[in-house]
Amino acid sequence: VFRNKLEFFAAAKVSSSFPPVDLPEIAFAGRSNVGKSSLLNALTRQWGVVRTSDKPGLTQTINFFKLGPKMCMVDLPGYGFAYAKEEVKEAWEELVKDYVSTRLGLKRVCLLIDTKWGMKQRDHELIDLMERAQTKYQIILTKTDTVFPIDVARRAMQIEESLKSNKSVVQPVVMVSSKSGAGIRSLRTVLAKIARL
Ligand code: GDP
Repeated sequence: VFRNKLEFFAAAKVSSSFPPVDLPEIAFAGRSNVGKSSLLNALTRQWGVVRTSDKPGLTQTINFFKLGPKMCMVDLPGYGFAYAKEEVKEAWEELVKDYVSTRLGLKRVCLLIDTKWGMKQRDHELIDLMERAQTKYQIILTKTDTVFPIDVARRAMQIEESLKSNKSVVQPVVMVSSKSGAGIRSLRTVLAKIARL
């Protein structure tokens, strides 16, 4: 599926403008600067189609991309920038909450976590939303090249442990580096399987 051309087809600021569901969707979420654009680029090998960080924290739209005829990749707006205004935060919450809790075609949310920093409060808030909506999600540790391998393993274990009584999480944690390419192929395999569900 990742050999297909990536094609942007819709952007939504409010849930009423979500495009109709006709394909299985895999969404990508995480704090601003977590490495989401880099990962989308590494996964699809189509640099430039998905823009790397414009103004962090200001892209408050959900962007929908078709990856060939069988799968849709969805880029959720990044969160957690300290200077994001309260109303920006509320708009984000409304939009992402609507998406993760009502979207019928949504098969999986990939929640990206920076290996060095681990999970923060906003990550937990999103996890709570998904647990309540029974939306399947999995944790992707990014930028694994920035810490020692032992610390990557420790971080993964810590997260798996903290989520072990959650019902909608899909374990294990996936570890990737868009910079070194580590883990990218196996993440492609995991995602391709989901799209076929
Ligand atoms: P986004 O805001 O989540 O879309 O994050 P970006 O993909 O724009 O990445 C944010 C910053 O992290 C940029 O400076 C990237 O070069 C850097 N970055 C992204 N992925 C990696 C990675 O795997 N390793 C390292 N060392 N840096 C990365």
